[in-house]
Amino acid sequence: MSAAAESAQAKRARLADRPAAAARNVMVVGVGGQGVLLISKALALIGQKQGLQVKQSEVHGMAKRGGVVFSHVRFGEEVWSPTIAKGEVDALIALEWAEGLRWLDYLKPEVGLFIADTRRIVPPFACRDRRFGAPMQYARETPAEVADKVAESYALDATTIAAELGEPRAANSVVLGVFSASTSYAVEDWLAALDALAPSKSREVNRKAFVAGRAWAEAARADPSLRCDPTFPDADAPAPRRQFAVAVAIDPAWCKGCDICVKLCPERCLALNAEQVAVVKRPDACTGCRVCEWLCPDFAISVRAGAVNRGSLE
Ligand code: SF4
Ligand code: SF4
Repeated sequence: MSAAAESAQAKRARLADRPAAAARNVMVVGVGGQGVLLISKALALIGQKQGLQVKQSEVHGMAKRGGVVFSHVRFGEEVWSPTIAKGEVDALIALEWAEGLRWLDYLKPEVGLFIADTRRIVPPFACRDRRFGAPMQYARETPAEVADKVAESYALDATTIAAELGEPRAANSVVLGVFSASTSYAVEDWLAALDALAPSKSREVNRKAFVAGRAWAEAARADPSLRCDPTFPDADAPAPRRQFAVAVAIDPAWCKGCDICVKLCPERCLALNAEQVAVVKRPDACTGCRVCEWLCPDFAISVRAGAVNRGSLE
């Protein structure tokens, strides 16, 4: 066997020995503004620092509007494709709970590692019922249910941890710290990657957030009961919702019957009566959006919407 061949073999053995080498395919998901790309770039830097080949790809079409963002990072001795096939992800890192659930089937079934911030950012299309206080159509799975489906799961309220450090936007660094604990790469290397990527004015808080995330992960690795965020709301528990009500008043003396409010009410609540005066024909459908109030050229409409307190609007 040649020296070069022996050297390559020794290198492969060395890489295979490292815990981090198990996580060759990493997927990072979230929504715009959460710092998905900072995490994936930090992973790429760490991989390069270890002398590995790295391929990174990302999709962030509507990132600035809270849209979906995801990134694939692959590293190893030789990496060809920049994307990871379904069922081939070693580690799925989610900065938003429902986004994490959406990509779960990309994880390797028997060995996949799932790390998620339980922060919930409800997208507009989850608001199927526009009435005040109506429940959202949002993912119902709890961290405990997800933990039953994957090989290894860590769900934490990273945003609150970061907020307690003074910067909730550093939640991505908390999550990065959690992931770092599943690798053998030196803390100094992770912090150097973070320093290279975080804006200078938030470098210090990002470092603290990383350290806090890593400490949380080390505690959770030692005690599995800590791995499921205890503050996560129980979807089956009755929601402590306040009662809301809407009152739309139309002054017939001011209404000239122009029909604007009737045509533009999104819920089709209004109609003109036989005297060509606007009336509320579907009060239960009114969401209190105030479109009618704002558009009435004669100030004939007033809308009151709010929480009900002892039977009347607050
Ligand atoms: S506030 Fe006015 S426009 Fe909005 S839903 Fe109620 S009646 Fe319609
Ligand atoms: S917009 Fe005003 S004036 Fe026109 S129909 Fe409605 S209440 Fe009457």
